[in-house]
Amino acid sequence: MSDRIREKLQILADAAKYDVSCSSSGSNRKNKDKGLGNTGSGICHSYTEDGRCVSLLKILFSNVCIYDCAYCVSRRSNDVKRAAFTVQEVVDLTMNFYRRNYIEGLFLSSGIFRSADYTMERMLQVVKKLRLEENFNGYIHLKAIPGASPEIITEAGLYVDRMSINLEMPTEAGLQKFAPEKTHAEVQKDLGIVRDRLIQFKDERKMIRSVPAFVPAGQTTQMVVGAHSESDQDIILMADRHYKEFNLKRVYYSGYIPINEQEKALPAIGSAPPLLRENRLYQSDWLMRFYGFEATELVDEKHPNLDLDVDPKLGWALRHPEQFPVDLNRADYRMILRVPGIGVRSAKKIVQARRFGKIHIDQLKRMGVAYNRAQHFIRCADTPKFIKEQLPGQIRSQILQSGQSKYVQQLSPQLGFAF
Ligand code: SF4
Repeated sequence: MSDRIREKLQILADAAKYDVSCSSSGSNRKNKDKGLGNTGSGICHSYTEDGRCVSLLKILFSNVCIYDCAYCVSRRSNDVKRAAFTVQEVVDLTMNFYRRNYIEGLFLSSGIFRSADYTMERMLQVVKKLRLEENFNGYIHLKAIPGASPEIITEAGLYVDRMSINLEMPTEAGLQKFAPEKTHAEVQKDLGIVRDRLIQFKDERKMIRSVPAFVPAGQTTQMVVGAHSESDQDIILMADRHYKEFNLKRVYYSGYIPINEQEKALPAIGSAPPLLRENRLYQSDWLMRFYGFEATELVDEKHPNLDLDVDPKLGWALRHPEQFPVDLNRADYRMILRVPGIGVRSAKKIVQARRFGKIHIDQLKRMGVAYNRAQHFIRCADTPKFIKEQLPGQIRSQILQSGQSKYVQQLSPQLGFAF
């Protein structure tokens, strides 16, 4: 690798590291025509300590940008070293790194140079070359440039596994303050294009098998958390709306990192991003997608922010003592899933095991239930008859004292939660 490419790589990989939306799950592209790579279930990921994915070659095409978003290191008013790859350089890097087994795929984003279409066109050339000329069958996640024409976005979708378009700030007010050249409407227009094409291609593929796959791993978006005064309610309702309206695979929450310290409009939060808040948002996201919780159950006008000391499932249970205790021998699956300490897998095991007899405490432990946590919210066959009911405040302090809430905080959002 030449010194110039090495320098570009250093600059453009460093500028890309703030984007967290790069988990590569959900794609099933198979190796074909003796090409290179595949994205089957064997694809593995590695994560940095704070949960960010590092398994892909994650770079910007260029960090030259005509926009001036206050929270971004690549904004035009920042005095940083600028660089741009050529199309061929990105293709060569991806192929060389893949052959050396350094990466499983490519995550390509970019600053907007000249115009959205000009930038997106270059990125399209990269993915086209990789697929058509290099026969590369590895994973590709492309960050679409907001405002690019529907034709280019549609064509790019035929070559990538996942596409994402960032909402950036959770509220329009925040976006106007920190990225006034962008609007949510523009991002939503692009998300809508991808959603419509996903439906269209899926329908056509049902009738004609040779119709190509379009963005097979779906689309995602990302919001910066903690740069503006938005509440968790604002963020969660926004995420919920976008899951429902745009059929998103994931919403990523990126704790604001104070990169531009001279920017007075941004909050001074020291050097650490609000990781615990980010983590709680991922947990609430998990509850909405896999545990049947509605966004409005997790946050409301009375509780606009998630508790930081307990996870959102425990927080909900403590606010709703009228729903407990749950009789594990009678309750439906949906309610069992709401018990703190019982995850999706153990809830399923409980329902299955009930067909063969009553559920007892020792069985729960073998099923993987976090019994020390769950015991406050359940009844089963051998629960003592005259057990003393505890108040929510007592349960909360007992759980906090025993340190049981810590284990959920340490899990990576990409690995999933069981709580
Ligand atoms: S458009 Fe993207 S790259 Fe450009 S300043 Fe805004 S966030 Fe940064």
